[in-house]
Amino acid sequence: MNFKLTEEQELIKKVASGFAKDILAKTAAEEDKTKRFPIENIKELAKMGLMGVNIPFEYGGSEAGVVAYSLAATELAKVSASVAVTMMVTNMAAEIINYFGTEEQKKEHITKIMDGTYVTGAFGLSEPEYGSDAGSLKTTATLDGDYYVINGNKAWITNGGYAGIFIVFARTNKDIKGAKGLSAILVKPGTEGFTIGKEENKMGLKSSSTVSLSFDNVRVHKSNLLGKEGDGFKIAMTALDGGRIGVASQGLGLGLAALEDATAYVKERKQFGRKIAEFQAIQWMLADSATELEAARMLIMQAAFLKESGAKRFSKEAAMAKYFATETANRVAGKAIQMLGGYGYTEDFNLERYYRDVRVTTIYEGTSQIQQLVIGREVLK
Ligand SMILES: Cc1cc2nc3c(=O)[nH]c(=O)nc-3n(C[C@H](O)[C@H](O)[C@H](O)COP(=O)(O)OP(=O)(O)OC[C@H]3O[C@@H](n4cnc5c(N)ncnc54)[C@H](O)[C@@H]3O)c2cc1C
Repeated sequence: MNFKLTEEQELIKKVASGFAKDILAKTAAEEDKTKRFPIENIKELAKMGLMGVNIPFEYGGSEAGVVAYSLAATELAKVSASVAVTMMVTNMAAEIINYFGTEEQKKEHITKIMDGTYVTGAFGLSEPEYGSDAGSLKTTATLDGDYYVINGNKAWITNGGYAGIFIVFARTNKDIKGAKGLSAILVKPGTEGFTIGKEENKMGLKSSSTVSLSFDNVRVHKSNLLGKEGDGFKIAMTALDGGRIGVASQGLGLGLAALEDATAYVKERKQFGRKIAEFQAIQWMLADSATELEAARMLIMQAAFLKESGAKRFSKEAAMAKYFATETANRVAGKAIQMLGGYGYTEDFNLERYYRDVRVTTIYEGTSQIQQLVIGREVLK
């Protein structure tokens, strides 16, 4: 067993960390207030190879693997969780096209994600009525000659306002009610009948894009089917297993940033004539936070390593990493605010942004309860 990162992993981590500290840090707080999507920084991520960390060179990716991808997501999230989620979902879209797509689909779409032509990619699974129960979703794609005709609505689609390509999950077989009737179809913005809704007013991740989508007789050539008909749920779950490593890494980044800010504060703030860092109650909060974040890091690295080594199944490990890291990060952000007292409750410190941003990590890409279901099912096998 070797806990040391490779030179390439160290390099990706350094590149992401440098960009976050030198560039993202300048505007992250302001963009949270104005809800501006930092398109110039997002395009820069593509130039740096961070939109395809685990994508082969052949299609313009960095081919640096899953551990490197996780490290990059964590470094970005330490400064801007909004930019991190934009990067994570774009990587996820590219990876899933790489994994299930035809050679034409890869050449057509992955290269455009990698060179920034598309700005972002998007993943359209959730619907207004079906979130956790995605296998029951009701958007339909009916074959009419050589075209699928798509009808329905999607909710909460990250990157939707800026995506050059959407992976849309729809029911291609209406006779099969459950997950087996679903397929994944690549849809471009601007296709007739495809409407991108207005940005959601979210609690956090305010400078990321989250929109609804509607499909009104949208005709897409059948060559845009990803994988085979009926593969949709398998494709979605494969994407989410990897995506959960990303969300766990994002949570870790936010937790580490919160702990770092709190640590700096308690070393300065005095009460009762002493630095508050000298109080054991404060040290215990720091100790619990640091220990739990380290445990989260280990779970994340294990899941990332498994995926990178080509393991057929890593659903349990990805679910454990996401469940533990995101619940931990929420606890850590809460304790960090506690350590700042009233100041932690103001916009004068980044902590309140981290606290709002981290909240969604236990919700998207499968809630904590859904992770528990996945883990429980695996334990019982
Ligand atoms: C900012 C943001 C970005 C998002 N980005 C995307 C995206 O890019 N693409 C996409 O497809 N989706 C996206 N989502 C959707 C997200 O994945 C869903 O919100 C999530 O899966 C939960 O679904 P829901 O909101 O419908 O909640 P519900 O499924 O209605 O769940 C509500 C509550 O019930 C609990 N629950 C549900 N079923 C069970 C069960 N079987 N056992 C125990 N408890 C259960 C849940 O844990 C939760 O506490 C995003 C959401 C947000 C908020």
